[in-house]
Amino acid sequence: LQEGELVLRTVEDAVALRARLSAASSVVVIGAGFLGLEVATAAAGAGASVCVVDPDPPLQRLLGEHLAGLLVERAVWAGITFHRGPAALVGEPVGGVRLADGSVIEADAVVSCVGDVPASGWLDGTALASPHGIEIDGEARTVLPGVYAAGDVAAVRRNGVLSRGPFWANAVAQGRVAAAGVLGHRPAHGVVDHYFWTDLAGVQVKAVGALPLRGRPTVLEDGGDGTGLLAWEGQAVVALGIKRSVPRLRKDAQQLGIVTP
Ligand SMILES: Cc1cc2nc3c(=O)[nH]c(=O)nc-3n(C[C@H](O)[C@H](O)[C@H](O)COP(=O)(O)OP(=O)(O)OC[C@H]3O[C@@H](n4cnc5c(N)ncnc54)[C@H](O)[C@@H]3O)c2cc1C
Repeated sequence: LQEGELVLRTVEDAVALRARLSAASSVVVIGAGFLGLEVATAAAGAGASVCVVDPDPPLQRLLGEHLAGLLVERAVWAGITFHRGPAALVGEPVGGVRLADGSVIEADAVVSCVGDVPASGWLDGTALASPHGIEIDGEARTVLPGVYAAGDVAAVRRNGVLSRGPFWANAVAQGRVAAAGVLGHRPAHGVVDHYFWTDLAGVQVKAVGALPLRGRPTVLEDGGDGTGLLAWEGQAVVALGIKRSVPRLRKDAQQLGIVTP
């Protein structure tokens, strides 16, 4: 971390960030993922002019084109601007970013939201060490007998590729499965729980199913302006900007055959 660079990983980071954002009239956010857009939303709401920089189209890799497009449009309405391209920190302490064309955007606060790394360094030298996370099977077991893993640090192999799903619902599901294993019980469900929520640009997103979403949705309930209960056949059901309880949304997903009970 460079001096003056802000991140959001711990409660202390959140407290420091809040103090900086309340005094900042300009903010640059590096990274246009969920966290970057959540921070940008908060900063814009606090009255700052906000610019988000990312080489990739905002939110698209995570949500797919349709949802990403809709949410970015809302973010633009909220006054957030976007720059495509890599950003390099400038200043000591950090006071802005340099874009690929050499131009510099100065800001009172620069927040890096560029992803997370599993805190598994303490496992170096063991069979569990891997930069991709600790591999678990469908019962949260690692390669070492009697050792389980759960949460952001755990990685599941799908189609030969190890991937982590660093979301709250997965951490809970994997914790339960691991606990069942330790107690010698059969787990009641799998280690991946496809439920995700976020609040971006004033719109709440709740999704049950696998992201990112390909293609366009069917509108099951129209909330106006693109919001509503949206279904992507065989992929996910999303409550976008409308009230829907999580159990209800899970039931919707079951009825649509997206997830099994
Ligand atoms: C700013 C932010 C916003 C988020 N927003 C969302 C969201 O909207 N929706 C969502 O689904 N998820 C969200 N997440 C992700 C969610 O918080 C995580 O998926 C969840 O907290 C994972 O739980 P965990 O127990 O695996 O890890 P953590 O909550 O990170 O807990 C791990 C704990 O282990 C401790 N630890 C690490 N190493 C050791 C060690 N060697 N010995 C002992 N203890 C150790 C750490 O100090 C920490 O307390 C967000 C995360 C952040 C940071």
